[in-house]
Amino acid sequence: MTAPSLSLQDAVLTYPDGDHTLTALDRVSLDVAPGELVAVVGPSGSGKSSLLAVAATLRRPDTGRVVVAGRDTGAMGAKERTALRRERIGIVFQQPNLLPSLTAEEQVLAVAHLRGASVRAARARAAELLESVGLDAAKRRRRPHQLSGGERQRVNIARALFGGPAVLLVDEPTSALDHERGERVVELLAEVTRRHRTATVLVTHDRGLLGRADRVLTMRDGRLG
Ligand code: ADP
Ligand code: MG
Repeated sequence: MTAPSLSLQDAVLTYPDGDHTLTALDRVSLDVAPGELVAVVGPSGSGKSSLLAVAATLRRPDTGRVVVAGRDTGAMGAKERTALRRERIGIVFQQPNLLPSLTAEEQVLAVAHLRGASVRAARARAAELLESVGLDAAKRRRRPHQLSGGERQRVNIARALFGGPAVLLVDEPTSALDHERGERVVELLAEVTRRHRTATVLVTHDRGLLGRADRVLTMRDGRLG
């Protein structure tokens, strides 16, 4: 079997909760291979976003291991973890957090500047990625308020792919969309997963969208099964 691009091993995450602690992740283990789309479903408050935060190295688990692209993130300092996140992890949040004043192409390029890529190469790559998620030349010049919710989510996905991530983490991308648009975004994520060979984790509460996933796991009270 191919080595997983993302591996969580017995991850435990707690939050302080008055005099107690709340266990958001209860010994969660998960391996995702390159080119595999894993869907995680579960009720609100079951720990889905916590799972993504830990996988994204945005939160350190209390115990357990998080291995991204073969690298154990537990031993890393903050700087090293930030670099790994920037280079190897694509994150798509629920609400496309796009900057209102930038065009679709500039949203993707804004990430490029952080990376110090050459402007011309970055522009070509941004255009190609936006094209591949279904935004033509005219739409690439629009600002977020001139795009539909589904199109904004496409920009968000193109931006997450810019660095060539090994791991793609997607949190309820369809919650602001109607069912049909939501379905098309999930189809796009399935395509992107194959084409870019990302290990993709898609969190959703919409069971109707699970047909495109390679595996469906359920989160309940911090346990993944
Ligand atoms: P989901 O995404 O499935 O709705 P979350 O991972 O957001 O679930 O939350 C899991 C549990 O952790 C919930 O009980 C939630 O209230 C709690 N929680 C989430 N984030 C925090 C936080 N920053 N501080 C304290 N408790 C939190
Ligand atoms: Mg959530």
